[in-house]
Amino acid sequence: MGSGLWARCSVTSSGSDGLANVTRTMSFDEQRARMVEEQIKARGITDGRLLSAFRKVPRHLFVAAELQREAYEDRPLPTELGQTISQPYIVALMTSLLRLQGHERVLEIGSGSGYQTALLAELALEVFSVERLPELLNAARSRLERLGYLNVHLSQGNGSLGWPEYAPFDAILVSAAAPEIPTPLLEQLADGGWMALPIGPQGAQILNEVEKRRGGVSRREIASCVFVPLVGLYGWP
Ligand code: SAH
Repeated sequence: MGSGLWARCSVTSSGSDGLANVTRTMSFDEQRARMVEEQIKARGITDGRLLSAFRKVPRHLFVAAELQREAYEDRPLPTELGQTISQPYIVALMTSLLRLQGHERVLEIGSGSGYQTALLAELALEVFSVERLPELLNAARSRLERLGYLNVHLSQGNGSLGWPEYAPFDAILVSAAAPEIPTPLLEQLADGGWMALPIGPQGAQILNEVEKRRGGVSRREIASCVFVPLVGLYGWP
């Protein structure tokens, strides 16, 4: 996968004469390993399965060719049509809130580039992902197929309605911001299940984790974040 592809990464060090330049090339695999250590593990996410998944999924293949060399930087990147692929740490934080062990059926809203989908596919049994924009969905589909993910099901539509045919889901991850938890998603979350989603207006939201247990729902605020809006019914106009 990444091993045949290289990105140039210049590390410049000045000697006493100020002239010595050391430039070395780091493979995408090396950059990814460093991303996991410095951006994810160092910030307190230590689950071994989750870290392995982040070491494996080639984030640079989910962005446009001209952005590949920036794929492992500590920030979000633009995808097609004005959407974004979240900062690696935020993807890791959201994923960790789902507490996946490998046997789950997961619903994802907002497939975007497909990067988060691939991580979920590494960590759960089956992933059902809904994306509103057909162009993004098609691009995500071809990336995921090329990488060989067979446990991913993609659908085009308004994800805030969930995917009732396949409900209930053991975990739900929403990667676009809603004004409130969309009711259909709460209904489609299995008892004992977890949901991670940003809630709030455009430009500033709070990442929430939601637990459903014995019919009751509890919710906890985790961190400030900025996501693109969830568009449509149960989202923003
Ligand atoms: N997780 C993605 C990032 C998604 S950005 C990744 O790893 O790349 C948020 C995505 O949500 C965008 O692609 C946007 O088109 C999509 N979206 C917004 N409103 C939606 C809705 N109502 N239903 C489904 N997808 C929606």
